[in-house]
Amino acid sequence: MLPLEKFYITTAIPYVNAAPHLGHVLEFVQADAIARYQKLKGKEVALITGADENSLKNVQAAEKEGISVQQLCDRNSEVFRQMADKVCLSYTCFRRTSDKKLHWPGVQKVWELCEKRGDIYKKKYRGLYCVGCESFYEPEELPGGVCPEHKAAPEEIEEENYFFRLSKYQPELERLIETDELQVVPQTRKNEILSFIKGGLKDFSISRSVGRAKGWGVAVPGDPAQIMYVWFDALGTYITGIGYGNDEKEFGKFWPADCHVIGKGILRFHAVYWPAMLLSSGLPLPKRVLVHGYITVEGQKMSKTLGNIVDPFYLIERYGVDPLRYCLLSEPTFEDSDFSEKALREKNNNELLANIGNLVNRVLVFAQREFGGRVPQGRLSEEDEGFAASQKKRLERAGQLMEEARLKEALELAMEAGKEANAYFQKNEPWKLARGNPERCAAVIYLLLHQVKDLAIALEPFIPNSSSEIFRQLNAKGERWEGIGKYTLEAGHVLGTPAPLFKKMEK
Ligand SMILES: [Zn+2]
Repeated sequence: MLPLEKFYITTAIPYVNAAPHLGHVLEFVQADAIARYQKLKGKEVALITGADENSLKNVQAAEKEGISVQQLCDRNSEVFRQMADKVCLSYTCFRRTSDKKLHWPGVQKVWELCEKRGDIYKKKYRGLYCVGCESFYEPEELPGGVCPEHKAAPEEIEEENYFFRLSKYQPELERLIETDELQVVPQTRKNEILSFIKGGLKDFSISRSVGRAKGWGVAVPGDPAQIMYVWFDALGTYITGIGYGNDEKEFGKFWPADCHVIGKGILRFHAVYWPAMLLSSGLPLPKRVLVHGYITVEGQKMSKTLGNIVDPFYLIERYGVDPLRYCLLSEPTFEDSDFSEKALREKNNNELLANIGNLVNRVLVFAQREFGGRVPQGRLSEEDEGFAASQKKRLERAGQLMEEARLKEALELAMEAGKEANAYFQKNEPWKLARGNPERCAAVIYLLLHQVKDLAIALEPFIPNSSSEIFRQLNAKGERWEGIGKYTLEAGHVLGTPAPLFKKMEK
């Protein structure tokens, strides 16, 4: 037997010094939808997420609370892991960067490889540093003298650090991105990063003194006075999460990554620093960097000061995870999007409930009532065949869009297929056929039961719980993507008990 084709996808590794917000959820569910689709295609999928713990912000937060940094990280990372579970992120590894056994050896190995290549050198440095970003900035990158992300003035820092020879890789990075060998999606982000690279790449600092790091972070190999710069070690999660530095076989199976899912604020790290580090280490490059936008809440940027940070735990508790996933994934995949609870309720009521919930319920209840809860024996008419073929085509197109990570458009096609199936039910009036033409009635219900089954497959990446509930109501096992369009529910098969899939949400 041939080994399964692999697919490896990552989310960014969030800082754990603040609570998870909707932006994290968006990234989790986007990565998860892609991972689930690839799994449905029959691939062996690895999905890595985790926690970026070696930042100065954690040191500062722990000092404020009077606890150890490790204690703070243990507590905060656990919240992110619970979040990942709540949103049904199908991760295969949750990698914490404070993990000395499974993370440190891999990133120290990368350091040594870059050093061997002659790409790491020591230099006295003076620069403007934003603790929030864990990044140095040039004065011209700071409009009004403040970090554009954090609106805070950076610190001026002077010390002797290790530097990475990024400038050396400028022509190679430019070529890789221009030719899509390293694909940056969408095009606007590709243009943005190309113009950044063309503007000239400067070597960057990849360590800090033990003193400034307060002893927290990955030790630089061979220099006890220095600690790795947080990004250098955090990016390494993408390889240590699949075994680099401790399980080379697993690593060899999954690397290179098929897709890194990130937010637009950290594009530079993923499309410039990270590939340069890999080039220097002699490791293959990821294939694609997928960049999503930010979420605003009722038209405003989420911020602590505005107090409009929506707690995802609250949303899931109140509305359920599938409606939240649906609401986020039905927004433009790569653009900024707006969230409101009102929109969530409306999408649940007018789309999930009115379309998918209605279809599944009316077909299953009808089969229960008219056919004793069994799949009827049906001979499809020419019109049925034509309808089924066009539906299959629609869902196959949705699959192609999933390959390109065009999640919103793929979801729209699946929802369109739901609408069409509802219309077919309405048009054929099976409740009338049941009296006058039972054979025709059987064929229509046979067909529509398979439409329900196909939709459960196509919607699984987006609303996995509802999908498995549909399969439960069909009393059938989940199927792979290739099952779409196939008549796998045999006549006489006993169906499960129908139950409403979605609830109407009131204010
Ligand atoms: Zn900043």
